[in-house]
Amino acid sequence: MTDIKVNIEDIRPVTCATCDVLIWLPATFISKRKEDHKGFYCPNGHAMHFPLETDAGYQTRMLRASIQREETLRDQLKRNMPGKSVFDELNAKLLAFLGK
Ligand SMILES: [Zn+2]
Repeated sequence: MTDIKVNIEDIRPVTCATCDVLIWLPATFISKRKEDHKGFYCPNGHAMHFPLETDAGYQTRMLRASIQREETLRDQLKRNMPGKSVFDELNAKLLAFLGK
């Protein structure tokens, strides 16, 4: 018989969404399945996978959306004030207010 040594801190709980059985899996296995979304099975034979995106994937998607919003706003400003920046417009209003 071979002894298997397991570091308990490297084992994480996962619950089967179908039968609610609690499964303890290595953290590295969970990380890999969250990255590749490949399936695995609970002891009762139910297929499982992690469909949600990773934290890195979520942050990348949010960053891309933020960049897209900025580009859209910039395009709208260019269309509304061709050849002028927002500061030019404000400066003109300030000069008009001061009577210059
Ligand atoms: Zn199950």
